[in-house]
Amino acid sequence: MKIQAIKGMRDLLPADTVWFQRLEAAVREVFGRYNFEEIRTPVVEPAELFTRSVGEETDIVGKEMYTFADKDGAQLTLRPEATASAVRAYVEHRMWERPGLTRWYYIGPMFRRERPQKGRYRQFYQIGAEVMGGDSALIDYELLAMLRMLLERCGIGGAELVLNSVGCAKDRPAYHAALRAALAERLGELCADCQRRAQTNPLRVLDCKVPADQPIIAGLPQIGDYLDSDCRAHFDQLRALLDANGIAYRVDPRLVRGLDYYTSTAFEFVHGALGSQNALLGGGRYDGLAQALGAPAQAGGGIGFAIGEDRFVLAMQAGAGAGGDAATGPDAVAIPLTAAELQPVLELSERLRRAGLRIEVAEPGRKLGKALELAAKQHARFAVLVGAAEAAAARCQLKRLATGDQSEVPFAQLPARLGAGV
Ligand code: AMP
Repeated sequence: MKIQAIKGMRDLLPADTVWFQRLEAAVREVFGRYNFEEIRTPVVEPAELFTRSVGEETDIVGKEMYTFADKDGAQLTLRPEATASAVRAYVEHRMWERPGLTRWYYIGPMFRRERPQKGRYRQFYQIGAEVMGGDSALIDYELLAMLRMLLERCGIGGAELVLNSVGCAKDRPAYHAALRAALAERLGELCADCQRRAQTNPLRVLDCKVPADQPIIAGLPQIGDYLDSDCRAHFDQLRALLDANGIAYRVDPRLVRGLDYYTSTAFEFVHGALGSQNALLGGGRYDGLAQALGAPAQAGGGIGFAIGEDRFVLAMQAGAGAGGDAATGPDAVAIPLTAAELQPVLELSERLRRAGLRIEVAEPGRKLGKALELAAKQHARFAVLVGAAEAAAARCQLKRLATGDQSEVPFAQLPARLGAGV
């Protein structure tokens, strides 16, 4: 039987990975400028980490996690997201005892058993950043400014920042009570999931995607009307910083995001080129999560986001248009005309690679016409031909494949000639 990749989990071939590499290089550069450092946490975590932080009533924990029993019976989960892991690591390593804020970023695969479609996979990739140890609006602003720089650096125009405040822990009881009361009146008209959520975690109702529920959801009380003065001041400060620094946004009072741990600032960047899966990235503040995972009060608050790398890459491709084909071939294919020239060609190729050039060595003894044809199909810029006479004189025939122009060049001059592309 033919063995294939698991549904919703796909191979990223070089035509894809070249885009992922571009994005990741931009991330390392831009995030580094904002003084973020990389962390790598395990792909497998105790299941309890996610049930306690993401929340039992969320789609992720309720329906989508890959959880299994280890040989010793421990319940383990393939991470569905990495904020919980980052906060676990922050707590485990007592990072708040070090000077200043903790600014981390991560890049890696996440796993959710969702219905696969374009831009939605069961193994997908996220790039995230977290700032822990503080809760000022300045931190939130700088995170959004960093994202603006990344979008610019990646040539993505047309991404819209959608912003909300989902309230602090102390705002929740009054809002939940109002929401529950409003939901009780319309309960029978809502979908089965929402009828359950109305009891267990009413905020999740706002996240419902069932079309028939939308008119009812539109009439529910808004969290913005229940913010206490601290939380409102925080949101106002953030908006003032965004306004003063030319970062445009739209406030959406219904933006609550899919995970339970969010407090105060919540945001998403959406992009028109992505169809129904239009969220490029999402994030928000999660003050109190470190404490819920065992840290003392002085561990402070936190905020972070996760970029959907698969979708961000689609937006980069849309931005690059027809000229954006990122696939590239080698600088040159080095062709020994017979086996006798293999050794000098290997030595020459090593010298060229050390000079930073991308070189492929052809098998010796192939028909020259075939070897040149293959090199052209691989999008090589040049062929470097070495026969017996050339090897003896430490020279080669340098052929530009696009034009067929050919000239004799001493080995010593090759790095400069190939590097300059002439
Ligand atoms: P979340 O962790 O749910 O806040 O998602 C953050 C970002 O990850 C989203 O905005 C998407 O871009 C991306 N994302 C979430 N789930 C998937 C998925 N199943 N496949 C691809 N990208 C995803």
